Amino acid sequence: MLDKGVSTTTQEPEMFGHPKGLFYLFFAELWERFSFYGMRALLTLYMVEHIFKAIVERDTATAVVYASYGSLVYASTVVGGQISDKILGMRASIFLGGILMAIGHFVLAIENDIAFFLALAFIVVGNGFFKPNISTFVGSLYKEGDVRKDSGFTIFYMGINVGGWIAPLLCGWLAVEYGYHYGFGLAGIGMMAGLAFFWSGIKKNIFGDRGLPPNQEVYNKKIIGIPQKTLIPVIAFLTAPGIAYLLASWKQNYVSGLFKFIGFAVLAYIIYIIYTLKTNEARKKMIMAVLITFFMTLFWGFHELSGSVITLFASRNVSLEGIMTAAQTNSLNSMFIIILAIPISLMWGFLSKKGMNPRTPYKFGLGLLLAGACFYILALSKGSADENGMVPFAYLLIMYLILSIGELFMSPVGLSKITDLSPKNVVSFMMGVWFLSSAYAFQIVGFIGEQLAVESTDTNVGGLETLSIYTDGFHLIAMYALGAGAIVLVFSPLMKKLLGNVH
Ligand code: GLN
Repeated sequence: MLDKGVSTTTQEPEMFGHPKGLFYLFFAELWERFSFYGMRALLTLYMVEHIFKAIVERDTATAVVYASYGSLVYASTVVGGQISDKILGMRASIFLGGILMAIGHFVLAIENDIAFFLALAFIVVGNGFFKPNISTFVGSLYKEGDVRKDSGFTIFYMGINVGGWIAPLLCGWLAVEYGYHYGFGLAGIGMMAGLAFFWSGIKKNIFGDRGLPPNQEVYNKKIIGIPQKTLIPVIAFLTAPGIAYLLASWKQNYVSGLFKFIGFAVLAYIIYIIYTLKTNEARKKMIMAVLITFFMTLFWGFHELSGSVITLFASRNVSLEGIMTAAQTNSLNSMFIIILAIPISLMWGFLSKKGMNPRTPYKFGLGLLLAGACFYILALSKGSADENGMVPFAYLLIMYLILSIGELFMSPVGLSKITDLSPKNVVSFMMGVWFLSSAYAFQIVGFIGEQLAVESTDTNVGGLETLSIYTDGFHLIAMYALGAGAIVLVFSPLMKKLLGNVH
């Protein structure tokens, strides 16, 4: 995922003190995330209300497909990152990924249940090429040691969340007013807008030589008579039906089995890397990188419930009349991130100056405690339910506020730590492992989703009984998250002792 192209531009064009390219990437990612989160806001409800409407185990099927999709959509970034590093370069990868994602969203806009799984598969493959490369493209805009890099990433994270904020509002509104397919269609248009921004940046030569294929010979090299630059997109297209099959086989849940296998393989490889590292310092750094990735997996496992169980809870048991629709509640997390990202990053800077900036494990421990607090609040909502089992919206709002603070304690901090802690020759691989944390998180989401499935012949479930299923579940999740956070905090001093000055 590193940019191997050497920039020939001597005078970098700038905007607001940052390379101008950042703003093109900001808008490209904003619109890509618009499509991703607009679609995600509708996905669970669409499956429950349409795809699996006729079966009693509709919640279980939805939980499994949602988890499989989420796991694959993040795991594919590992492959996309490697192919970009070695063959395509970031530009071609971003275009290929964007086109595949747009196809996925437009296929979803067609009213056809069989096309549904194929559409998800296109998004899985597309995201694999798009997501890791647009992130590393941002990094490539800054020379090593450039102090503006962190704030550049904060601006970029804001772009992600502007997309994540407006998309559920608009797509959620379209889905209710005109039907789900219009919502999905708008997501596709968002993706096209993202590509248009990226294209205009290239046309205006904003990126210099960045993101070009690392080696033209490899790029044009023929395999079975076809140049790699053509072969890879063809293979990417052909992979989609296979992935669609995996997603559709929810009863067998092949994806879960696949991830158990991948997990062991990745773990074995990491142990091998740690074993072969030359210095103790490098070994300690790598152990820290693995630990924070593991804690991040737990946090995303709780956080990503928002698009599945929490959306269902919102639609069945939260009083939303006159406020927003259940799909639109998906925008709350991003809304709070936009409000809080800069204050929290300023807070770290302020604490740093006073020598009081908490070490990474403490921030992660606190993040997990906050996740626990979120679910505890949702569990408490039962006490304020009316006779129809509906709880006030305020519980959901406060829970998203706290969840977003937790996210900001962990996600941006971890992203920059991973690049610092990983040995140079495996930094791409470790970035892939970092994204795998989101992939595994979706397996946790699937597991919880299956436990909290409401089985009923009635499609219009809700009421006090459903509420109890959710709040009892949230209570248990809260205990696990609080326990995990407490363990991390309790062991933080030990980590400090063992890992020394590795933060
Ligand atoms: N919200 C962030 C994004 O969309 C992180 C999501 C994740 O890794 N689970 O990029």
